[in-house]
Amino acid sequence: MPFHCSHFRTRRLWYIAVNIDEFRDAGYRTVDLIASYLEGLDDAPVQTRAMPGSVRAQLPTKAPEQPESWDEILSDVERIVMPAIANWQSPGWFAYFPASSAPPAVLGEFLSAGFAQQGMLWATSPACTEIEIHVMDWLADLCALPAKFRSDGTGGGVIQDSASSGSLVALVAARERVRRVTPGLPLEKTVAYVSSQTHSSLVKGARVAGYGMIREVAVDENFAMDADALAQAIRMDSDAGLVPAFVCVTLGTTSSGAFDPLSAVGAIAKSEGIWCHVDAAWAGAVGICHEYRELFEGLEYADSYLWNPHKWLMTNFDCTAFWIGDRQELIDTLSIVPEYLRNAQTDNAAVIDYRDWQIPLGRRFRALKLWFTLRSFGAEPLRQHLREHISLAAELEKRIRGDNRLLLSAPHSLALVCFAHRDGDIATQRLVDNLNATNRVFLGTTRLDGTLVIRVAIGSPWPVAERVDELWNLISELA
Ligand code: PLP
Repeated sequence: MPFHCSHFRTRRLWYIAVNIDEFRDAGYRTVDLIASYLEGLDDAPVQTRAMPGSVRAQLPTKAPEQPESWDEILSDVERIVMPAIANWQSPGWFAYFPASSAPPAVLGEFLSAGFAQQGMLWATSPACTEIEIHVMDWLADLCALPAKFRSDGTGGGVIQDSASSGSLVALVAARERVRRVTPGLPLEKTVAYVSSQTHSSLVKGARVAGYGMIREVAVDENFAMDADALAQAIRMDSDAGLVPAFVCVTLGTTSSGAFDPLSAVGAIAKSEGIWCHVDAAWAGAVGICHEYRELFEGLEYADSYLWNPHKWLMTNFDCTAFWIGDRQELIDTLSIVPEYLRNAQTDNAAVIDYRDWQIPLGRRFRALKLWFTLRSFGAEPLRQHLREHISLAAELEKRIRGDNRLLLSAPHSLALVCFAHRDGDIATQRLVDNLNATNRVFLGTTRLDGTLVIRVAIGSPWPVAERVDELWNLISELA
């Protein structure tokens, strides 16, 4: 029986009718499939062996003209989709940064689709807006953020679809700030400052926002931005008639987990009237642990701050927590009110309309999955989860230091360890290829100071201690 299309069976819909009982049954079976997938992750190969084009080769060239049953659809999921997915949640996945997810968030996502809210305005979904405001205030408190970032301060929090989008919003607001000070300022004169270690999304965002120049500031021996070099670059640019508008401070860089000196850069930005944006996409999660708070000192200088619960906090993509210190700057930059979006609550300035806090108009009910994650796990178990990964990384670092065939490439940062083979890039590449060929682990590489480096980012939501041990045994065997 086709689940989604049985003509004229119900009076609720006209030509395509949905049978709710069949939906219920299909839903249970789909949840069963997800549960079995999660149960099997420990034993499953970490990476797919799919080849380019291998998925499409199994699909019909044309969309079906007639309904197919949910049985047929789910069996194709098992036959075609599952062998070609990368097992990001596997305890053996150490590549990139984690994109962790866990059942509470999965169910939040499910409900979000079921309720199908369009939360562009408070009026189009009061629950979508108010739960988001509230959960972002919870998270601000858990991270002990400065009061301005709370909704009862001058700013507030919002969930963006990605760190890239959040940084773009900040870049655009920063651009408009300098253009308000100097009306008619040509965009070619605006400068955004990053370092060689800043994530590429900032460079992309600065291009999209139309900055005239993206200045790459030097880093120190630990790959952190050199604040003196920044001050000098700003001085030179100002003397040349350019307008410094934006600086990105990264807390936990992608390649090595370095922390830019936030207080020093923030103080420079403040004295020059430059927008200070803080990207802690991965590392921001540990702001919920009291003992790591000093890593975030200087956040009072930040005009905008973001990190991704969808990286390390078990809330599946997409979920970027973004805070702004002065919400009016965002609203002045992004708000456009056509007649068709007007409503009494907006007109009376009684509500937050999140469409003014992001680039797209429409928005999903993302707050559900974050709300469920925080409630189902509780802050203390979440802290323990992060701490366990950090201590496993410290142990791995110790073992690497003790092996004279290997070199630590940077001081280990939280749950990220970067190392290389002492014999150089070819040996490092061979080692990572051999490790990945086992399919018990999956690791990525980067370059630091021109040298090829293997990254181990610990962050699976499932128990990982045994797999980190196994990783070390494999490294010792294959180095
Ligand atoms: N910033 C940093 C430091 C990152 O490491 C990443 C991704 O790994 C990003 C930004 C981009 O994140 P997103 O995929 O949410 O745009």
